[in-house]
Order: sequence, then structure tokens, then C-alpha cells
Amino acid sequence: MNYKIALIPGDGIGPEIVREAKKVLDRVCEKYGHSFTYSEVLLGGASIDVHGVPLTQEAIDTAKACDAVLMGSIGGDAKTSPWYKLEPSKRPEAGLLAIRKALNLFANLRPAYLYNELRKACPLRDEIIGDGFDMIIVRELTGGLYFGERKTIEENGVKTAIDTLSYNENEIRRIAIKAFEIARKRRSKVTSVDKANVLDSSRLWRKVVEDVAKDYPDVTLEHMLVDNCAMQLVRDPKQFDVILTENMFGDILSDEASMVTGSIGMLSSASLNETKFGLYEPSHGSAPDIAGQDKANPIATILSAAMMLRYSLDLDKEADAVEDAVQKVLTLGYRTGDIMSEGCKLVGTKEMGDLVTDQI
Ligand code: NAD
Repeated sequence: MNYKIALIPGDGIGPEIVREAKKVLDRVCEKYGHSFTYSEVLLGGASIDVHGVPLTQEAIDTAKACDAVLMGSIGGDAKTSPWYKLEPSKRPEAGLLAIRKALNLFANLRPAYLYNELRKACPLRDEIIGDGFDMIIVRELTGGLYFGERKTIEENGVKTAIDTLSYNENEIRRIAIKAFEIARKRRSKVTSVDKANVLDSSRLWRKVVEDVAKDYPDVTLEHMLVDNCAMQLVRDPKQFDVILTENMFGDILSDEASMVTGSIGMLSSASLNETKFGLYEPSHGSAPDIAGQDKANPIATILSAAMMLRYSLDLDKEADAVEDAVQKVLTLGYRTGDIMSEGCKLVGTKEMGDLVTDQI
């Protein structure tokens, strides 16, 4: 099959890590008989340098014409980069928010997977880790408290700030469907997280999720209150497969879940719209402190490319091959600086990309 991929190298370590992910994808094409046509898109600082703005309409149109977008990261050092002398709406990060909005990416997926080889980086005790954990957080990204009406009023000299949390049933249904579809590609369990003992929006959330669940009798659904979920993530993370939740709860829980894996250079992420289209990127930033030094860990971007194969292109076998290749390279003891431990072999960005490619 032929697929069109938009590539956004971005800033800092972005071009290096995207280069390695592309190398891995080229190998997948060779082995499985696909062809990918790449269109390079400028975003963030890279776009400011060429066009004076962090995102152009042309970039949006190019991304929309593709089957999926693979991105490195954007942004520079806020203290030294000239991009941060611009007004906030012209800075690199504004480009990222704008492209997410333009592409209507409402579902954010953040896997938290603990590789046995990296278990020392996990802050949890050995008996809690057990055989490791493998979960994915499906977070609603365009509704809820962050997008509700907000204002600050003053009455009788007392200021009151008001933020509104609202969800309609369509917004809940479309993210719930994503979570159940994803669960079917995994271990078929959805934990829907809410605060239904207090919030009306959570009670509607629960009702709609239960409704959607009727179409997925092969997937087990459980409900969990958000405060309990925060606790369970560090008490027994093994119990989770897919965590489905709203915007703010997801913001907090996905950071907590990624923290328990311990390694920022390993964490992939995806943002999807209503079709299979998605933007795939590592969870980390552009690491300007190590840019251009062949020190960046490309694995988070390579794993993001694997997510793209699985969720946008439905190439599950190929996604498995990429994930297995990463696993093998870690088992062989190769590490970039960020995940280095005693007795392992230190490699740079390019060599890590070559090693993963060779294992496919
Ligand atoms: P960061 O994630 O870029 O870096 C934090 C630390 O982790 C640094 O020490 C860095 O060297 C290290 N690190 C990050 N990724 C690594 C990798 N793949 N391999 C090895 N080490 C890695 O966060 P920051 O320093 O707070 O932000 C730097 C820039 O990135 C800022 O401009 C910020 O706005 C931007 N940013 C972009 C995104 C994005 O593109 N989605 C996300 C977060 C931050």
C-alpha cells in the first residue's frame, strides 16, 4: 500500500529524531512491501525562520492532504532563542496549538509502558512493578474545563474567578468510541475515570460511556473516580489497560502515568481526529540543551511512528515489528545517555536508529 505522511522535524533535537524514525519506517516499507510518500512541513521555530510565523496555511493544507503526521518537537531555549522575543501568538508553541486545532485533534493517546530492562528508572518498588505494566491514557483534548467559558468578576471588593466545565454527549461519545476501539487492539479493558459522585458532567460522561460500551460487548468496562485512579496508578499500575478520561483529569493522570515509567526519551504520544488521521509525536520537548550533538534518544519518536502504523494506517503487524525491534535493542544492552545504566553500551542518536532498523 502507498501512504502519504507529513513529516514535521521541528526544532532542537526534532530533525535528528525524525530522521531516525523515518529510517525505521523506510525499513518497514522495504520489508512489508509498502511505500510512504513524505511531505516535509515547517512548524514552530523552523517556520518562523522561513516564513516569520510558526504555522502557515500551506503547512496545514499539506498535513490535511496526508494520511498521518509524524512530528519531532518544536521550541527553543526560552532564555536565549530570538523566537521568544516575539509576542506569544507568534512563538513556536502557538504553531503547535494552532495545528492541533486546525486538524481537529480531540483524542490524545499517551501510552505508559515499562520495559523490564529500564525498571530501575521506575520510582515504584519492585513488588509493585511485578512483571511490568502497559497502559494507555485516552484523554479528551478539546473540551471540558480548559475550553469552557471563564471570567473573573468583582463584587463588593471581592474578586471571584469562574471556570466552566461542560461536556455535551457528542464530545463524550466520540472519545469513548476511540477508547473502545483502541482497547480492542490491546487487552480489551477500559477504565473510565470521572468524578461522578460530585460533577454533573461526570454523571453524563458515565451514562454515555455505558451506552457506547453496549456496542463493544467484547471489551470490559469499569468506572473509577479520579482521586482513586491517581492512587491506583502508583499502588497497582498493572491493573490498567486503557484509561479513558476527560481533558483536565487526563492532563494530570497522563503525567503521573508517564512519570512511573521513569524515562522521558521513551514516551510516545498521538492526537487523533474523528477519522483515522492523527499527529504522532514524542511526549518530550525539543531538548535544545543536547540538540545537534547526537545525544538524543530517538526511541520515543520511533514508538510514535509505530503508533502511527497501528492507529492511522491499521498496520498492526508492522507496528508490532517496530515495538519488538526496540525491545530487542534494549535487551541487547544498547542505551542512549538518558537511559544509560551500568554494564550497558552507550550509543548516539544515529546508532540507536540504525540498531532498531537492523532488528526489523
Ligand atoms: P524537554 O523535554 O525538551 O527537555 C527536558 C530534559 O529532558 C532536558 O534535559 C533534555 O535534554 C531531556 N530530553 C528530552 N528529550 C530527550 C531525548 N529524546 N533524549 C534525551 N534527553 C531528552 O523539555 P524543556 O527543556 O522543558 O523544553 C524545551 C523546549 O521544548 C521548550 O521550547 C518547550 O516549549 C518545548 N516543548 C515542546 C513540546 C512539543 O513539541 N510537543 C513539548 C514540550 C516542550
